[in-house]
Amino acid sequence: MATSEDDLTIWFESLDPLKARTYDDAPMRDDYSDIYFVGTGKSRAHAGRVGRRPDCIPADAQAYWAHDLWTGWLHPAIPRCTVCLARHPVTQVIE
Ligand SMILES: [Zn+2]
Repeated sequence: MATSEDDLTIWFESLDPLKARTYDDAPMRDDYSDIYFVGTGKSRAHAGRVGRRPDCIPADAQAYWAHDLWTGWLHPAIPRCTVCLARHPVTQVIE
């Protein structure tokens, strides 16, 4: 199967995972009225392919593959990994 830069998809590395907590550490209520979140949910984008985790993601970091194309639009709050960027340059138009 032929691959090209256009097929590159994003792996999101979790820098500060969001976690749901309950105020009294009790099990979550059905209506979620007792939960709050800790962490910022910040992540960093890496260029990769499905089933192949990029080497530049630290081994102990949480990461997951997404369908998003590396060359496509990425939320401005999510930085791209500089290692991946050097390997696979992307120009994103910021409006
Ligand atoms: Zn990377």
